[in-house]
Parts: sequence; structure tokens; C-alpha cells
Amino acid sequence: MIASLNGAKESKRVVVVGGGLSGLACAKYLVDAGHKPVVLEARKVLGGKVSAWKDKDGNWIETGLHIFFGAYPNMMNLFSELDLHERLQWKPHRMTFAMPKNPGTFTSFEFPPNVPAPFNMAAAILSNNEMLGLVEKIQMVPGLLPMLLEGQDFIDAQDELSVAEFMSKYGMPESVKKEIFIAMGKALDFMDPDKLSMSVILTAMNRFINEADGSQTAFLDGNQPDRLCSPMREYIEKRGGEVRTGVPVREILTGEGGRVEGLSTDGGTVEGDYYVSAMPVDVMKKLLPKAWSGMPFFTQINELEGVPVINIQIWFDRKLPALDGLCFSRSPLLSVYADMSVCCEEYYDENKSMLELVFAPATKAAGAERNWISESDEDILEATLKELENVFPEDVKDEGGAKVEKYTVEQVQAITEDTNFQLCPCG
Ligand SMILES: Cc1cc2nc3c(=O)[nH]c(=O)nc-3n(C[C@H](O)[C@H](O)[C@H](O)COP(=O)(O)OP(=O)(O)OC[C@H]3O[C@@H](n4cnc5c(N)ncnc54)[C@H](O)[C@@H]3O)c2cc1C
Repeated sequence: MIASLNGAKESKRVVVVGGGLSGLACAKYLVDAGHKPVVLEARKVLGGKVSAWKDKDGNWIETGLHIFFGAYPNMMNLFSELDLHERLQWKPHRMTFAMPKNPGTFTSFEFPPNVPAPFNMAAAILSNNEMLGLVEKIQMVPGLLPMLLEGQDFIDAQDELSVAEFMSKYGMPESVKKEIFIAMGKALDFMDPDKLSMSVILTAMNRFINEADGSQTAFLDGNQPDRLCSPMREYIEKRGGEVRTGVPVREILTGEGGRVEGLSTDGGTVEGDYYVSAMPVDVMKKLLPKAWSGMPFFTQINELEGVPVINIQIWFDRKLPALDGLCFSRSPLLSVYADMSVCCEEYYDENKSMLELVFAPATKAAGAERNWISESDEDILEATLKELENVFPEDVKDEGGAKVEKYTVEQVQAITEDTNFQLCPCG
């Protein structure tokens, strides 16, 4: 849309609904192209899934643990264009996995520096024998080679296959799923790989294989609102755009032929020359005007569903064995985690750990045995600690273990289901 607006002779007023990263990025590129975006964000805080707010002790409560891969060209461009790239704390290029069979141990795939892709990944895979043996690695080749040779066309053609179906088609051993694909499915889409299209896994792998720093990860050096969202807002406002928070769009008003005539908000109707939805798909589905219900483009939206996930932060009274980077916990209910007291400059603490963990799958539909979403925070914490006993057997245990000083549980689906947008204490 921005490309087609680029040819517009006059500046257009574009109403962007949703002040998450998509909405803010859209507004940023609109002001760059000389237009006037008006961002309407329902909550009082910007950022959507990267939003955060301070609790009474002054600690940041985050909606989600976020890392940035080298393989994110759009995000990397955005950081550079906003002059924020120095806020990314790049970690050593490795992928670290907990070893559930040997509690308390980890193994890493180490990507050698200054070796071009795909050889750096080949070296990382070949030099780690703790997760997959040589025969299993060789058995992966028939499935992964066409991806390397044919690229995105091959990947797109696998969209109808689940991970399990793809594996059986290409004769991959079950251990590859157990050791690698479960961890990838949970990290990429918060779900069990049997529920996931193989094209999701292959798209990520293809980027990681083809770009030397594609799988290298960076953490933001501090809280997401100050370090990322505020600069985006300032950039947009300085160039004539508007960013309004606490303004939920209640209805999309349409006229003849289903054309949008305005957006209904509690403060009245907001009009523009163009409208952009940067809302989560579940909210957009609820707001779809009746006039659009027969239009093929919009009926397809009904097939899409957001995947619920839970983000947990736990403050311990002591330091746990800390890794400087993201770790795949490889436990049934936990996906990735990081000790933010080590990984993030602003949260650095020499004496105490703060783990931030992604709890997935969180629903039966995503592959969990129980619907954890909407369970009590206490139950979710208990289940999390139970699994952490295997990751940190010396420190997370009933007797003599580290004490939980406090914790928070953010149920991310609930945010999109709450039409009052009141879920976070920020209002
Ligand atoms: C726990 C967790 C961990 C994640 N980790 C990573 C990671 O490590 N790396 C990564 O790349 N991605 C990660 N993601 C995914 C990433 O956060 C999202 O892809 C991205 O932030 C989505 O941005 P968005 O702007 O499209 O949507 P959202 O962030 O959902 O923003 C949508 C916005 O629309 C607003 N809105 C909704 N309804 C209305 C309405 N009616 N009127 C006005 N505004 C409305 C919402 O309040 C929200 O602010 C993670 C997500 C979660 C939940």
C-alpha cells in the first residue's frame, strides 16, 4: 500500500489501527513517504506484544520475551533507520538447548565466526553430536536439500503438510522431531510441530542456512517501551503523524459497496483517505463489517486464528547458573527462556536471576494436554517451576532451592479477547 501511495501527488491521511510494531512501522514508512498517518491504539501503552509496564517495585513487566534474529531484514532496517541499532545486544552465535535426559546440562550448536553461509551452519551441526548422531544428520538431507536448491518455491509447496507428514514423506527419523522440530515449533509459533505447517519451519531454516548471521540473536538493551516504542512514536510525531493511545476502534463504518467511511471510537468517528488494520487477526475478525462478509479476501480471514501463549517472569533470590543468550528448554510446557539479569543490560543483576520464559503450547488446540490459558497464575507458576527443576536441578527444588521473590504471568490471548483493553495495570 505504501508503495502505491508513493505515487500519490498529495499527502494522504491514513488511519492505522493498532500501535504494535506493525502499526508503528507502517506509520513510520508513511511519514517517510510524505503522508500523515494517525495511529489509533486501544491500550494506553504502545507496542502490543512488545508492550511492557512498570510494577509497584519499578520492575518492567513484559508481554513477551523478545529476541531479534539476524535474519530479520525489515526489523534490522528499522533499527538502522531509527538510529537504534546500538541498542541491540548481539550474543555469541550459538543455539543452546537444555538436555532433559541429563538434568542441569546444556548443549550448543556453535557457529564459527567469519565462515560464510551455509558452511557455518554445516560446521555447527557437524560439530555437535549430543543431540543427533551422524546417521540422523544424513537422514535429514533428502528433506532439506530441495529447500536449499529450490528455495521458497519448494517451501511454499510444503504448506499443506504438517511437520509429521513432511518427515514421513522424506524419511526423517523420529529423533529429529524430538530433538529439533518440537523446539522449533514451540519457539516459532508456540505450538506442537504436528499442528504446524512444515513451511513455517522450513522458512526459518532456509533463512538460517543462507545467511551467515541469520540465526544469531540479539536482545534489546532495556525495556521495550523506552528503547523501541517511544523512539518510533517520536519519529512519527516529529514528521507530522499522530499516535493516539487509549483509543479502541469499536466499529468499521462502511457505506456503498462496503467502502470504509470512518472508524467508530469512544471519542467519535475518525476518518481518513485510507485505513490500515494492524490489529491481531482475532480482533479484526470480530470487527469485520457485515458488508464484507461475502468478499473472498475477507472470508479467508475466518480461517486464521491467533495462537495463545503465556509469558512468565520469575525473580529468584539468588543467581541461577546463567547463560548469556536464549535457551531452548526442551521441556513439555516451556519453549525458550532467558536469564534477563544476564542478557539485558538494563535488567542486569549480579546477585539474582530473573528468568523470562515462554510457556507453550498453552492450549489443547496448540498441542498441550490441558488448556493452560485462563488457568490461575499460581497453577501456571507451579507447572513452570516443576519443569525448571529439570533445567536447574541444583537451584530449583523444594528443599534448599532458590526462593521465588515474585513472578508475573501474562496470558497473551486474553489481551486480544478483552474488548475493554484493561488487562494490563497500565490500563
Ligand atoms: C510471548 C511472546 C514472545 C514473542 N517472542 C518473539 C521473538 O522473540 N521474536 C519475534 O520476532 N517475535 C516474537 N513474538 C511475536 C511478536 O511479538 C509479534 O509478531 C509482533 O509483536 C506483532 O506485532 P503486531 O503489531 O503485528 O501485533 P500486536 O503486537 O498484537 O499489536 C496489535 C495492536 O493492536 C491493538 N488493538 C487491538 N484491537 C484494537 C482496536 N480495536 N482498536 C485499536 N487498537 C487495537 C492492540 O492493543 C495492539 O497494541 C513474540 C510474541 C509473544 C506473545
